[in-house]
Amino acid sequence: MPPPNPPRHPTCITSSNAAHITNLAVAQQLDAALGLWRYAEQQLPASTGSRNLLACACGCGRKLRVAKATLEQAPIWCGACAEPFEPV
Ligand SMILES: [Zn+2]
Repeated sequence: MPPPNPPRHPTCITSSNAAHITNLAVAQQLDAALGLWRYAEQQLPASTGSRNLLACACGCGRKLRVAKATLEQAPIWCGACAEPFEPV
């Protein structure tokens, strides 16, 4: 956005032009900070965990939540009742 009242002479700084320069400096600092934030986010390991877990229960009533893909790989057996955990 252009300054509302550009100075008539390059060395002449009006109050509105000074405010524009200050706003521009703040905007540049925010842009730099957002760039650093985005870079830092990219350095974090990607989330591979599923947020959509299945609630499962076995014959004795113990419960757990597990990813659908994990349950499809092989049954999960309860150590107490020796029954498989099944989606409820
Ligand atoms: Zn059980």
